[in-house]
Amino acid sequence: MYRERGGGGSKGKMERSSTATSSKGGGAGLNLNGKETNKDRSSPGNSKISSLPRSSYPNKKLSKGEENIVEESETDSEESDVSGSDGEDTSWISWFCSLRGNEFFCEVDENYIQDDFNLCGLSSQVPYYDYALDLILDVESSHGDMFSEEQNEIIESAAEMLYGLIHVRYILTTKGLAAMLEKYKNAEFGRCPRVYCCGQPCLPVGQSDVSRQGNVKIFCPKCEDIYTPQSRFQDNLDGAYFGSTFPHLFLMTYGHLKPQKTSQDYVPRIFGFKVYNP
Ligand SMILES: [Zn+2]
Repeated sequence: MYRERGGGGSKGKMERSSTATSSKGGGAGLNLNGKETNKDRSSPGNSKISSLPRSSYPNKKLSKGEENIVEESETDSEESDVSGSDGEDTSWISWFCSLRGNEFFCEVDENYIQDDFNLCGLSSQVPYYDYALDLILDVESSHGDMFSEEQNEIIESAAEMLYGLIHVRYILTTKGLAAMLEKYKNAEFGRCPRVYCCGQPCLPVGQSDVSRQGNVKIFCPKCEDIYTPQSRFQDNLDGAYFGSTFPHLFLMTYGHLKPQKTSQDYVPRIFGFKVYNP
């Protein structure tokens, strides 16, 4: 089920979104949505991910040319999904997953999020739950008028947290596993840094299923060890948004993808002789 986002629809979105941006916007920000630089649009109030140079949702309204400027201003050139799509048609989920540092996330099916059963128990974990959910699903609402800028920022970060908590459940479903499979095939989760694993693609994993216990790690199916992601941006991602089960259920589901465990071990040598350990 996809919402019409052109014309009047996108106007509503702009009004709603503009309230969730930094104080620089205000009334004028509505007209300047496409003009402001990425730097101006960062929202420093965003809880744990605040260290990332994030842009707010209205950035999607940039025209193609302006998007390119934003792209060039960023140091990471890997992120190209945004410039290839029409900004007007981008859902919050697509936008969020395309942000730098969020590359490990797959796009959760909206139908999955709309089923209350799948969200059981999350309302008590996330502040402003209903509003955060509306934001994720692009449901038009007038709450922007009711809340202060600070509250809107909380809702924005609540939506990010809620998405993560939904994501960890979704990637254990058939559809979620399939979505992650596509990313795995493209080695989007990075490769094992161990030499004898020969660039084996990895899978994201959390060491804990509880939020804020640690950042996401990558699991190598070959050496069966975990590593810190190489990108410092992904290193800021909560491990609980991927969970401790995912890579193992993934490899059980797609057993043919499980590589043979490496038999090669590195042997320390001095002048060609094995080091003797007394
Ligand atoms: Zn490895």
